[in-house]
Amino acid sequence: MLSLNSRPMYSKAVSNSDPGRGRSCPSVEDFEGYILDLDGTVYRGDKLIPGAREAIMGLRAMGKRVVFLSNKPIQSRQEYAAKLTKLGIPTPADDVINSSLVMARYLADCAPGCRAYVIGEMALVHELRAAGVEVVEDPTTLGAHVDYVVIAFDRTFTYAKLNHALQAVRYGARLVATNADRTCPVEGGEIPDAAGMIGAIEGTTGLKVELVVGKPNPMMLQTALGRLGLGRDQCLVVGDRLETDILMGKKAQMATALVLTGVTRREDLSRSAIQPDYVLDSIAALPCRRREWKEGFCSRGWESGGADGRL
Ligand SMILES: [Mg+2]
Repeated sequence: MLSLNSRPMYSKAVSNSDPGRGRSCPSVEDFEGYILDLDGTVYRGDKLIPGAREAIMGLRAMGKRVVFLSNKPIQSRQEYAAKLTKLGIPTPADDVINSSLVMARYLADCAPGCRAYVIGEMALVHELRAAGVEVVEDPTTLGAHVDYVVIAFDRTFTYAKLNHALQAVRYGARLVATNADRTCPVEGGEIPDAAGMIGAIEGTTGLKVELVVGKPNPMMLQTALGRLGLGRDQCLVVGDRLETDILMGKKAQMATALVLTGVTRREDLSRSAIQPDYVLDSIAALPCRRREWKEGFCSRGWESGGADGRL
């Protein structure tokens, strides 16, 4: 357990200056905003990483802003927020950024009013429809143009869906995807993720996916920074995967912190070309003024609804 006087549980992974950003790295406590990966960083499955709640509530008590990122499009942002809230971290849905939201915003911005066929689950369909995308159930019966086939992690993927995607592409649809994760970690192992659907559709159509919006695409961070209302130099990206969380932060020229509570071990770092600015034993090493936040009471009102109306 950290105390105010304890030695920080983090280390700078690289030298004190980052040539890529051309400036000195501040300390982890100097950021105004914290962009946190969820699985492997805040929780594992249904269990919080020890100290995660205290760290996040402590950051908020210091006036720091926190948002959460996930590549997974199979749950809605409301469901993620409800899970965090149930785990003791009250969170509004707007503070959760997932690949469904980023895809919905991308299509709404770049192709307003477009029509899409979705290889994905209902959470993604709802997010796209909320952004004004017309989602069609069966592109083969419309006799009309489908602009995009949106590919995502889909546990209901079938031959019929594969055929729908093929027919949509034959009539000119473009391929885009929420995320390209090969597998999704679950209790006791892993299950196929969106890469399986992408592989099947690319293989069948002969077309390549032209855009994947999820991590490591820094589009995720642009959306997060928009929510935070902060600049990239003011925020720290925290996650457990070098090839997604940390690479994404590097691409955005942002400061990054790797936590060792997920898939990456300290010895993996020496074998990787992707190097974070900081390595934390866990999210519990993030700074917070613990005296300002106590169980059931927060001087800034986070437990009962923030003064800024964010809850
Ligand atoms: Mg993770």
